[in-house]
Amino acid sequence: MTQNKETRTVSPASSFLRPLGIYVHIPFCRQKCRYCDFVSLPAGPEDPDRHSAYIAALKQELKERADRFGDQYQVDSVYIGGGTPTMLDVDRINEVVEEIFRRFSVVGRDRLELTIEANPESIDELQCRRIRDGGFNRVSLGVQSLNDEMLQNLGRVHDARTAAESFRRIREFVTDNINVDLMFGIPGQTPAIWSETLESALAWKPAHLSFYSLQLEEGTPFYRHYKSGELELPAWEVNRQMYHTAVTRLRESGYEHYEISSAALPGKCCRHNLKYWSMADYLGLGLSAHSCLDVVRYENTSDLDQYIRGEYLKESSPGSKEERMGDYLFTALRQIRGFEFADFADRFDVDFLSEYGASAKELIREGLLISDGKMLRFSAQGLDRTNLVLSRLLNDEGGTHGA
Ligand code: SF4
Repeated sequence: MTQNKETRTVSPASSFLRPLGIYVHIPFCRQKCRYCDFVSLPAGPEDPDRHSAYIAALKQELKERADRFGDQYQVDSVYIGGGTPTMLDVDRINEVVEEIFRRFSVVGRDRLELTIEANPESIDELQCRRIRDGGFNRVSLGVQSLNDEMLQNLGRVHDARTAAESFRRIREFVTDNINVDLMFGIPGQTPAIWSETLESALAWKPAHLSFYSLQLEEGTPFYRHYKSGELELPAWEVNRQMYHTAVTRLRESGYEHYEISSAALPGKCCRHNLKYWSMADYLGLGLSAHSCLDVVRYENTSDLDQYIRGEYLKESSPGSKEERMGDYLFTALRQIRGFEFADFADRFDVDFLSEYGASAKELIREGLLISDGKMLRFSAQGLDRTNLVLSRLLNDEGGTHGA
């Protein structure tokens, strides 16, 4: 690829540029999984016109965003997600990455984290070579389970054998900096089935492992079937047992559990995702992509025709300061280390303890949160009840003030 030739010149003034992550959404999948509420549309590799129109729209959005923000930022992470980016000929995605290099100031190749998401059914040797030629140094593979029955329950199109072969292929042809996405709390899943998947994935020694509990999202077939009583999920206690098994086994295997659902070998945390959890600046491009600039969030339209016409942004207000503080706490507490009170004060000009001290103290007393006086984080017990803890921290009790 010709990126290096075309990279914007980084002048000495670049040291004053703020770091920026760029997320690019590719909204196509072979078929819709039964639990999925991501913006993804069924479109096969035989749909080149649609793909071309989308790539052209992405490049146009990229140009407009670079014209507006390009002189303020230097890009240090790029994440191509979806959907299933590897549903497209990856050379088309490489064109978008080249465009980022052309239009933005970007850190050197050795410092740029460049990730692409892939699903096992669409990652053959040719796609792997294209990914390598595009300069990607990180791949996130959507494995979800290594049990065929669980994969069928989820409505995934791949099986366990294909997932294992894809992992090996990526390691052989692209990089060993691979994230494996796993899911627990699947209908029909027992702790033994989960442990088997977990142990098989650990035997691959991926650099990074994400482990998400299945969520019932409104509008999905899973949600409807659950409401009508046709679908049964593992009990809450069983779900939590699976979560803690993962945390324990990952720690025993040398991984750092650094975010509620993420663990990494030393030095392999996902720098791009850390931007989300610390509310650092990132720019989202593509259908339904989210951006966060100066702690204000923006959201793109989810209407493909509108997006292709160049109407990118959804009408939205930046939200009140209270909402943004709540958003920050909700996001930053996902990190196992928690957040620093000083960072909160820097961003909002508000003393955390004056604003939320009463409810925080109560939650600390109950053993759900932990603080050393400078930072706040979930306890192991709190990690099982994050929504409850956050709503108690943020709701009006937060407004009762008093440290
Ligand atoms: S592959 Fe991922 S994005 Fe696509 S439908 Fe399944 S869960 Fe949704």
